Amino acid sequence: MKVIRAKVLGFCMGVRRAVDLASAEAGRAGGQSVYTLGPLIHNPDVLADLESRGVKAVDEPPSADGAVNSGVLIIRAHGISPDIEKKLRNGGFRVVDATCPKVKASQLKAKELADAGYCLFLAGEAEHAEIAGISGYAKDAPFCAVVGGAEEAEKAAMGLLDAGKDVKTALLGQTTISPEEYEIIGAAVKKHFPNLEVIDTICAAAADRQHALRELLHQADAVIIAGGEKSANTRRLLSAAQESGKPCALVEKASKIPPVFRSYGVVGISAGASTPDSVIDEIERELMKNF
Ligand code: SF4
Repeated sequence: MKVIRAKVLGFCMGVRRAVDLASAEAGRAGGQSVYTLGPLIHNPDVLADLESRGVKAVDEPPSADGAVNSGVLIIRAHGISPDIEKKLRNGGFRVVDATCPKVKASQLKAKELADAGYCLFLAGEAEHAEIAGISGYAKDAPFCAVVGGAEEAEKAAMGLLDAGKDVKTALLGQTTISPEEYEIIGAAVKKHFPNLEVIDTICAAAADRQHALRELLHQADAVIIAGGEKSANTRRLLSAAQESGKPCALVEKASKIPPVFRSYGVVGISAGASTPDSVIDEIERELMKNF
């Protein structure tokens, strides 16, 4: 059997940076508690490994009952709002900012536009941590609406019409939104505000993995998508592989490889942006066993 890997697979730059920063803190916290605000990554093995080294994921910043906190708090790649960050710093935490540089660029752009008086549309999931953080940076904008799709975007745009057709408007998107969806949302707002400035905030990480997977599908008889079931970008890779008609499977760990994969001549491996190298290596080793 031959095993080939997609040219681009696994951790994206932002996730790798966040995991590296957390690992470094685990080694040097000097007895201080280390927390991440929310899970650092959608991968249970990585989270368990970090926890075993003293890095605990919490939903709320831990409180020291009125006393000054002394722990380390890591902001994950999605980022947080500036108000929450300020509270954490004032609360005594040593804050380690692992916000992905691409997300940080969106946050700063949102602030720049808000300060310049732009009315903002944020395309993405209202409940998503990245959007919540960017909204915080846009809090001084005269208008800011989070829109999950074209219908919501048009409704929000109509709600702004009272302010006049000439108000300055701009659209920013969640870094992981698909280019197609972003374009549709932009078109919906432009129906009412043709001068809408569309800011390019989309991260290429997901598209790069999709593109590399398509190349891989041409070379392999069957494909394994390594990653967690809860990871949206891993599931999107699986859908693309399924559409090709080639045999494929989502595999969380080496022990879960379906036996039928041993019968293929060339097996390709792709992996979502939250899949650690160790999982990809193990799957490759397992496939190569006895060949
Ligand atoms: S997907 Fe892109 S924006 Fe999101 S963490 Fe990874 S590199 Fe950053």
